[in-house]
Amino acid sequence: MNEKEKTRKEKGADSLIGWSGGDEEVRIEALQRVREAEWVGEKERAKINSYIRQLRLKRANRLGKHTQVQWKKLVQLVGGICVRCSEASEKLEKDHIIPIYQGGSNSIRNIQPLCGRCNRQKGPERINWVRKWRQAQKVKPTSTFTT
Ligand SMILES: [Zn+2]
Repeated sequence: MNEKEKTRKEKGADSLIGWSGGDEEVRIEALQRVREAEWVGEKERAKINSYIRQLRLKRANRLGKHTQVQWKKLVQLVGGICVRCSEASEKLEKDHIIPIYQGGSNSIRNIQPLCGRCNRQKGPERINWVRKWRQAQKVKPTSTFTT
């Protein structure tokens, strides 16, 4: 990545860890170490957390991206239901099967439509409910249902 492409936030993050470059993983780890330092106050800690979130999202997008069209297609294919509890919902949320903070990608293969309640309830589970739904419905894998 060249210097021009960097956002101001990232430059700030680099100055905190004292160097630039390295992949997101390396920088996230460095920032996590800095965050624990004694001299870091509440304000800096909040800043670091925001940098870390930004880097995780960048990593997720590097591993794979999805489009709104793919998301809408996925919701349409499952019939507008939450794939975890099977209830129809107008407000389905994009849930990352492998969470972004655990290295999950932002590809459609890692995303499933969940209702708000299921999304909050699911905790650390990493169950691919889209795959379960697809198998139960005997739907063959497609470009959207690759899992
Ligand atoms: Zn649900």
